Amino acid sequence: MSEVVLSGVVKRYGQVTALAGVDVRVPSGKLTAVLGPSGCGKTTLLRCLAGFERIDAGEILIDDSRVAGGGRHLPAHRRNIAVVPQEGALFPHLSVADNVGYGLDRAARRSDRVEEVLTLVGLAGYGGRMPHQLSGGQQQRVAVARALAPRPSVVLLDEPFSALDAGLRAGLRHDVREALRADGATGVLVTHDQGEALSVADKVVVLRDGRVIQADAPTAIYREPVDVWVAGFVGDAVLLPAVVEQGSARTALGLLPVTGPVTDGQVTVLVRPEQVRVAAGSAGVTASVLRHDFHGHDALIGLRLADGTRITARILDGGADWPVGGQVTVHVDGPARAFPAQTASTTSVLVDLAA
Ligand code: ADP
Ligand code: MG
Repeated sequence: MSEVVLSGVVKRYGQVTALAGVDVRVPSGKLTAVLGPSGCGKTTLLRCLAGFERIDAGEILIDDSRVAGGGRHLPAHRRNIAVVPQEGALFPHLSVADNVGYGLDRAARRSDRVEEVLTLVGLAGYGGRMPHQLSGGQQQRVAVARALAPRPSVVLLDEPFSALDAGLRAGLRHDVREALRADGATGVLVTHDQGEALSVADKVVVLRDGRVIQADAPTAIYREPVDVWVAGFVGDAVLLPAVVEQGSARTALGLLPVTGPVTDGQVTVLVRPEQVRVAAGSAGVTASVLRHDFHGHDALIGLRLADGTRITARILDGGADWPVGGQVTVHVDGPARAFPAQTASTTSVLVDLAA
C-alpha cells in the first residue's frame, strides 16, 4: 500500500497549461477517482504520476519519496506504478495467463500469482484462452489482472470502462474496485462519468481547467458541492435564486432551511430533484408538468411554477400519476444549500440543464 501526494504540480504543453498547480492526496489502499470534463487534465495527471511526462513545477511523492520535482524525474519503469489504459491493452498473440504474467519474473510466473489475480477479477480458469476469445469486458478484467500481478504500489486506470456498454460497466467497475481492495492496491481511476466516480470511489477529486476544485468523499461531493458548477456536474441540480434571512431561504418553492456557510442576502440555493415532492391537490406551491424523462429506476419530471421558474423532481414510481400538462403541488424535503448569488446568465443555463 502506498500513499501518493501531488503538491503544486504544473504541466504545460507549449502554450497550453494542462495542470495549473494541482494538490492531491491519494490515500493508501483506497480508490480515488479523478473526475472532470473532457480536456480538464485527467490523462495528463495520470501520465505525470506514471512518469510518462516530466512536470514543470511542484512535486510528486510516493510513500514520502520524491519521484518527480525539484530536478528529479524517476523514470516510469522505476516507479512501481501500473497503468490500465482505455482499451486494447492486451497482446493479441499471448494467452490470458501469459498476458497477466508478462511483467512478472520467472519465479513469480510459476507461482500462483497469475491464477490468484485472475480469480480476483472473476476469471479463474480463463488462463488458457486467447484475448479474441473474450468479451470486451473480460479483456478489461484481464488488463486489470495484469496491472495487479506484480503488486505495484499504485494502479492507474484511465477511463478503463468507457468503451463498454452501460449495463456491463456497472458490474465491472464494482468488481474491479473489489479486486483492488482485496489486493490492498492503491488505485487512481480517471473518469468523466460522475456516476462512475460517485459509485465506486472512496474519494473523488474534481478537476476543472487543470485545477482541483474539490476533493472529498462521494457523499460530501454530492451533498456539499463547493460551487454551483460542481453541483451541476456531479448530479441533477435545481438552482433557485433566493434571499436568506435568519438561516432560511425565501425561494419560489417557499421558505427552505439552509445548510452550509451562509450570510443573509441574495444567494443561489441548490436543491436535488429527489428532494422535490410532488402531490395532487391545491395546497402549497402549484406547478404544471412540462415533461417526463423515464429512466426505469426513476423518472425526472420537469415542472414549471406559476412564476415561470422551472424545476425538476425525481419520482421513484415512474411518475405515471403526473401526466404532462397536469397541475400538481410541490414542496421541498430537507435543507437547501446556499451559494453566493449567480449572475442571471449562469443561473438560467444551469436551471435549463436541470429542467
Ligand atoms: P482529459 O484527459 O481530462 O480529457 P488531457 O489531460 O488529455 O485532458 O488534456 C488536458 C489539456 O492538455 C487539453 O487542453 C489538451 O488539449 C492538452 N494536451 C494534452 N496532451 C497534449 C499534448 N501532448 N500536446 C499538447 N497539448 C496537450
Ligand atoms: Mg483523458
